Amino acid sequence: MMNNENNLIDGKSIAETIKHELILETEKFFKDKNIVPKLSVVILGEDPASLFYVRMIERSCKKVGFQFEKHALALDTSEDELLGVIKQLNNNDKIHGIIVQTPLPAHINQQKIQKALHPEKDVDCFNPVNMGNLALGVPVFLPCTPNAVFEILKREKIDVEGKHVTIVGRSSIVGKPLALILLLKQPNANATVTVCHSRTGNLADFTREADIIVAAAGKAGIITGSMVAENTVVIDVGTNEVDGKLVGDVNFEEVSKIASRITPVPGGVGPVTNMMLMKNTLQAAKNIAGTL
Ligand code: NDP
Repeated sequence: MMNNENNLIDGKSIAETIKHELILETEKFFKDKNIVPKLSVVILGEDPASLFYVRMIERSCKKVGFQFEKHALALDTSEDELLGVIKQLNNNDKIHGIIVQTPLPAHINQQKIQKALHPEKDVDCFNPVNMGNLALGVPVFLPCTPNAVFEILKREKIDVEGKHVTIVGRSSIVGKPLALILLLKQPNANATVTVCHSRTGNLADFTREADIIVAAAGKAGIITGSMVAENTVVIDVGTNEVDGKLVGDVNFEEVSKIASRITPVPGGVGPVTNMMLMKNTLQAAKNIAGTL
C-alpha cells in the first residue's frame, strides 16, 4: 500500500507543463504563419456555472497567447438566430475554434447546433462528423475531457496497452468517447475496455477486475475502497458539490490507500481538460492554415 503523497497524480502540474508547451508552439506558429489562434464562445443566458467555465476558458486563452471572444446571447434567443451566429463564425477566417456552451435552453435542439458547427472549428469535438471519425479510428480532434484522461495516462507513463480499463459512465461527452480513444490502434492506447453505467448489475465486479478505473458517473463517492483491487490506477473525472465542497466520484479517503496512482478532485482531470481545449484550438488553427 502506498501513502497519499506517493501515488497522487498532480493534474495542476501536468496542465502547467502543457501550458508552457502550448505557449512555445503558439509563438512558433505565429512566426511561421503570422496567425494568432482565436477561440469564440457562444453562451445563452447567465447560468453562473456556465459563466464561470467561460471565464476559465478566457483565462486559459490569455495564458497561452490566443485571442478570445464571447458572444453573450439572451436566454430566449431563437434556434434560427443561434444558427445564424454559428454560420457567421463558421465563415469568419479569423476564428479557428467555436464552442457553444451547454446546457442549452429547452427550445434549442442541441443536436442541430452540434451539426451546424463546422467540423474544422469544432474544438469540443461534438459534431457528429468528428465523433464519427473518432469511432472509425481516424480522429481529427479528441474531445477535451476524455483526452485529458488519455493525456494524464500518457504523461504519467501509465501503460494502457493490453490493460483492462473499466470506465464508469457512458455519456457522449466522457465515457463513450473515452472508450473509443482507449481502443484506438495506436501507441498509448490498445486497451481492453469495459464501459459501465447505471444499469450495470454489480459495478464492483467490473471495477475490481480493472487495471485502470475511470470514474465518470457524476455521483459523489460511488467508487469505494472495497470496489478497488490493489495496484489499480484510479482516474476520477467526477465533479460533484457536497456541502459546498467539490468532490469526485471516488471515495478518496478509502481508495487513495489502495490505488497505485490516483487523481484528486479538484486538481486532477479538470485543469488538464482546459488545456486540451487550448490544444485543439491550436490544432484547428494549424489545420485551417494548411488548407487555406
Ligand atoms: P452524465 O450524467 O451525462 O453521465 C453519467 C453516466 O454515469 C451515465 O452513463 C450514467 O448511466 C452513469 N451512472 C450514473 N450513476 C451511476 C451509477 N450509480 N453506477 C454506474 N453508472 C452510473 O455525466 P457526464 O458524463 O457529463 O459527466 C460525468 C461526471 O464528470 C460529472 O460529475 C461531471 O461533472 C464530470 N465532468 C468533469 C469534467 C472535468 O473536466 N473534470 C468535464 C465534464 C464532466 P446511464 O447512462 O445509464 O444514465
